Amino acid sequence: MVTSPPTLEQAASKQQTLNVSTKHPFPVADVLGLPIACVTYVDVLSHLNNCLAKRQKTFCVTLNLDILRITGEKPDFHKVVQKSDFVFADGMPILWLAKLNKQNSEIPERVAGCDIAHDLCRLSHRNGYRVFILGAAPGVADLAVEKLRAELPNMQVAGTYSPAFSELQDTAQSQAIIERINQANTDILLVALGAPKQELWIAKNLAQLDVGVILPCGGSIDFIAGVQKKSPQWIGKLGLEWFYRMAYNPKRLFERYIVHDLPFLIKACIQQNKP
Ligand code: UDP
Repeated sequence: MVTSPPTLEQAASKQQTLNVSTKHPFPVADVLGLPIACVTYVDVLSHLNNCLAKRQKTFCVTLNLDILRITGEKPDFHKVVQKSDFVFADGMPILWLAKLNKQNSEIPERVAGCDIAHDLCRLSHRNGYRVFILGAAPGVADLAVEKLRAELPNMQVAGTYSPAFSELQDTAQSQAIIERINQANTDILLVALGAPKQELWIAKNLAQLDVGVILPCGGSIDFIAGVQKKSPQWIGKLGLEWFYRMAYNPKRLFERYIVHDLPFLIKACIQQNKP
C-alpha cells in the first residue's frame, strides 16, 4: 500500500525514545562503522522540529548506498559522516545492511532526504523558520522557491546561492558564502552540491555556520524545481529509486550505480555479515 509522508502534526505528537546516542535521542545501528539512527520519518521530522525550536545546530547526513561507498573510499569523509549529528537511512540498501548485523537495533523505515527537505520548508511556512538554499545549478534554487511559495505562501526564504566549484575550494570565497548565510538569519540550511562535496563543505565550515538544521540534500532541489523527475514513493520503498533515476539519466548514472554501487553492495554485505 502506498502511504503519504506523515503530517507535521503526527511528527509533533510522536514520543521520542530515551537517549541512546550522545547526539540524538534514538538507538543507533552500526553499518560499516557508521552510526545510523533507528528512526521513522516522523521521528526525524519531530527531532528536527525540536532542534529548530531550541536552535540546536544539527548537521544531518542522509545516508544512501552511494554515500556509504564513498565513505569506504575516503577515510576523511567516513570521519565526517561518523561525527555528524544525525545520520538517517535514505535508501533501502542501508536497512538491508543494518539487518545483517544481528546486534543492531532495527531501522524501521527508509527516510527520504528529499521529502525531509520539503517538510522543512513546510515547517518554515508554519513556524517562520528561515530557509537558505545553497547549491543546485544557477536559477534552479530560485525556481524551487517559486514552486514552494505557490504551495507554502508563508515560507521564509533567507536566500539562495549557486556557488561555482572554485568558490567552495577558496577559503576567502567560502567565508563570503558563510557570511551571506549567517547575515540572512538562516535557521534551515539546505545544501545541494552533491555528495561528498556538500557534506565536506558543511563539516569544514560547521563551526562558523550560525544556523539551526543543516541538511545536505543532493538532487532534492532539482526535484522540487521540477527539473529532474522524482521517483514515486513505492519505487523508493522497494529499493529501486536508483533504477528509476538511472532510466532518466543513463549517461550520468550508469557508472555510479552499476559500475560502482552494485559491486560495492555485494562487498558490503559480506563485510557486514562478518561476526
Ligand atoms: N551541484 C552543484 N554544484 C556542484 C555539483 C552539483 O550545485 O559542483 C548540484 C547539482 O546541480 C544538483 C545537486 O548538486 O542540483 C545534486 O547533485 P547530484 O545529482 O550529483 O546529487 P545526488 O542527489 O545524486 O547525490
